[in-house]
Amino acid sequence: MDYSKLDIFEAASLIKEKKLKSEDLLRYHLELAKTRGRDLNAFITIIDDCIEKAKEIDKKVENSEEVGKLAGIPCTIKDVLMTKGVKTTASSQVLKDFVAPYSATVVEKLEAQGAIVIGKTNSDPFAFGASGENSGFGLTKNPIDETRVPGGSSSGAAASLKAGIGMFAIGTDTGGSVRQPASFCGLVGLKVSYGRNSRYGLIAMASSFDTPGVLANSVSEAALIESIIAGKDKKDATTYDIEVPDYLGEIDNLKSLKGLRIGVPDEYFQQGISGQVKESVESTIKKLENAGCEIVRFSMPVLKSGISVYYILQPSEVSSNMARYDGVRFGMQVEDEYLQNLINSRSKYLEPEVKRRIMIGTYALSAGYADEFYKRATRVRVQMIKEVEEIFEDVDVIVGPTSPTTAFKIGEKSEDPLAMYLADVYTVTANIVGCPAISLNCGFDSSGLPIGFQMMSKRFSEDRLFAISAQIEKLLI
Ligand code: GLN
Repeated sequence: MDYSKLDIFEAASLIKEKKLKSEDLLRYHLELAKTRGRDLNAFITIIDDCIEKAKEIDKKVENSEEVGKLAGIPCTIKDVLMTKGVKTTASSQVLKDFVAPYSATVVEKLEAQGAIVIGKTNSDPFAFGASGENSGFGLTKNPIDETRVPGGSSSGAAASLKAGIGMFAIGTDTGGSVRQPASFCGLVGLKVSYGRNSRYGLIAMASSFDTPGVLANSVSEAALIESIIAGKDKKDATTYDIEVPDYLGEIDNLKSLKGLRIGVPDEYFQQGISGQVKESVESTIKKLENAGCEIVRFSMPVLKSGISVYYILQPSEVSSNMARYDGVRFGMQVEDEYLQNLINSRSKYLEPEVKRRIMIGTYALSAGYADEFYKRATRVRVQMIKEVEEIFEDVDVIVGPTSPTTAFKIGEKSEDPLAMYLADVYTVTANIVGCPAISLNCGFDSSGLPIGFQMMSKRFSEDRLFAISAQIEKLLI
């Protein structure tokens, strides 16, 4: 059996029908993680003893016992999500020896359905970055072209899945970190509404933006995984008690794109976008028009402030969340004396991008500057939420490119933080306003690098987003 050709639905059925041993599937993925995964530097930890879990599942199937929807399905988890008893570093040297005392809710929910975590994936430290190059454990390479980045911050999640390791990957998206790597690696990347997926056990970065998200090979696989991890969690007060719809059922129900209203903001096609990305996204929009959609072009100048708002509010939240890495509560202890330890531990073990964000955030929050920066950015955020909500009264989805470029060369932007921040120009909107968004592969540039097409929809309308994107996926194949 060619394991690389199976999707999650097929593999799960074969395991339940005793036509495929979970143990064999796991051994195949584990071996690939240790070879190709190591070459790409996609993993911080590979979990060898996961084979035992596969054996248990095989035993249960053998005894005709009840097994979950994902019984025996191998997956990977970004190293900013806690996995009980397994090293969880946030891809930062400051947590290099930290073993998680409990698991994140999303991990627990996946495991409860029989999914098997084969490894913890590399990323930018604490998820700060758009290329994976900031990791305290070395950069990850893009499996499509190893001289290029896989995108970030969920770099290892995207690189490993694209290389065929694990059948889906859980990442996190604070400003684009699931969608942009999905775009750079030609995958489906889902960022949910804020409050849809529990953040319990997700190492906090910018708490009002962070969301666990799914990387998958197809929309329906992403929908299946999301249907398992979504929902109210009493351990996370920011989750909403809103029923989780039957996402796969919604995909089946929508039979055509006819009559859908597709919003296209002018601001997403202006300066900074590569010609080939623009062409491919415009041609996808044309396909939607030919399929009977109504294209609604509009201008929303406030979208241009997205990057500024994000890079003031996000570091502000970061600077508070990072305070706990003081070498006492968390982090490495290097001295006995408290103050010296605090300074030396943070100086030695926090990566340069982490320090940069702490400094920006501390500045933006400091007395005398908070009104000018933090509070002003908060007001613009509220304005964006209002204007985007209004647009969703008129259109079903807002579409555009996921990223202004395809995967860039390793080193191309790493010396220029501002250039790197601009990579998030299209993705930050969804995090600022809290709505769901998905990235689909819509074509390739002349070097064969994937191009991402992003769709956003009204808050908590993941069901619509899945249904529409599954239809669009068919148009694009
Ligand atoms: N690239 C963005 C940043 O560096 C987004 C990160 C993320 O979504 N985790 O902040």
